Amino acid sequence: MPASTACDLQSTISATALRAVRSDEHLSPAHGSQNRGTRIVQNLTSVTDDHYMQLALAEARAAAAEDETPVGAVIVHDDTIIAAAHNQREQLHDPTAHAEMIAITQAAEALASWRLTGCTLYVTLEPCPMCAGAIVQARVPRVVYGAADPKAGAAGSLFSLLDDARLNHRCDVTPGVLAEPCGDILREFFRAKRS
Ligand SMILES: [Zn+2]
Repeated sequence: MPASTACDLQSTISATALRAVRSDEHLSPAHGSQNRGTRIVQNLTSVTDDHYMQLALAEARAAAAEDETPVGAVIVHDDTIIAAAHNQREQLHDPTAHAEMIAITQAAEALASWRLTGCTLYVTLEPCPMCAGAIVQARVPRVVYGAADPKAGAAGSLFSLLDDARLNHRCDVTPGVLAEPCGDILREFFRAKRS
């Protein structure tokens, strides 16, 4: 993604987040400041998560347009998007070309480090065992995903590789962000394939 686009997106996100804080203050004037502070943080997180997941969804749409299974991912570091990718398995003839794998490589390049400290990975579909393995290897601290994958999901559905005390890294996982549109685009893609 060009830097200018990422920059524009950042201003939109900040404006949206700011509006969320203001409306929260306006609607709940009677609460103590400590409680209110906690809720503002939660609202900000969820506004931001929705926004970045929309960008991951845009990547998934780009995959569908290229006749690839529509899964998209973005990686955010210090409120900056440092990677945006979609599944390219068919085009690259590469079984490892999942959205997360490509995004992790982009992010490591952007940070000039294999260790993705301070990053959040957003992906439209629950990571598979391969991608969850790469997430652990890259020490990604937080993963947010959209639709659950009961057939291959390794972030809680079939396996819990991102939160296994036996491994040397564990991530915070936020499941189900924009789960419906993230799942719909996959269902629609496979329905069209069958017809
Ligand atoms: Zn994968």
